[in-house]
Amino acid sequence: MAKSVVIDLVDVAKVYDGAIPTRALDKANLRIEAGEFVAILGPSGSGKSTLLHLLGALDTPTEGTVSIVGEDISKLDDDGLARLRGQHLGFIFQFHHLLPDFSALENVLMPAFAVTGTPTKDQIAEAMSVLERVGLKGKEKNRVTNLSGGQQQRVAIARALMGGKTIVLADEPTGNLDTENGKEVFRLMREFNKDDGVTFLVVTHDLALAMYADRIVHVIDGKIASDHPNDPMPLDG
Ligand code: ADP
Ligand code: MG
Repeated sequence: MAKSVVIDLVDVAKVYDGAIPTRALDKANLRIEAGEFVAILGPSGSGKSTLLHLLGALDTPTEGTVSIVGEDISKLDDDGLARLRGQHLGFIFQFHHLLPDFSALENVLMPAFAVTGTPTKDQIAEAMSVLERVGLKGKEKNRVTNLSGGQQQRVAIARALMGGKTIVLADEPTGNLDTENGKEVFRLMREFNKDDGVTFLVVTHDLALAMYADRIVHVIDGKIASDHPNDPMPLDG
């Protein structure tokens, strides 16, 4: 049976207005199936973050179509985009954007707080379980400022996975970490990919880490310069 397509970009361009308009992405075509683990490589300024913003419905294309779980994002209003993101998309960034005055648990529950004001018992149970899976059992009540950089990034991974997300987009999630912690972040992402079938698109400029992906996409000068399957290196726990 054919796997379902979760992301489909057709002839996508993104132009940023300005005194000199920037064509950050041009004629990009990319089709991602459910359960893939894709690394996106490319030099600084090549358009990786622009691509990830479009894939995450954080921005809309200037030309072409971006479909996420079958929805053409150009046809959605702000509420529709927010709903799509809330249901299907998780985000992990280089600087994790955690709330410093709050605990690990509160940070993971933050999206739930934002929607309903108070998290439900089920949401708290899910957050505790996801924190355990990223190796933070016993640290749930710690303020995130009292956690190490690697632990903070694991809180960010837990937050991105809350709510049974279909797709997780990570923009240089290891950019701020040493080799060991970077590898650990990839190991955890691969585990959620394998165990829960979550689709991952991970921007990195670390070729060694990209070798853990099933597929490697190179972005150069706003174009998808290459797109190849990769036999992933094993990551042992
Ligand atoms: P990367 O993530 O690969 O470093 P980006 O997608 O951030 O690249 O940027 C691609 C190009 O688009 C760069 O030339 C950058 O300066 C430009 N750019 C990115 N975001 C904006 C923006 N909001 N407004 C104007 N130009 C932008
Ligand atoms: Mg970037």
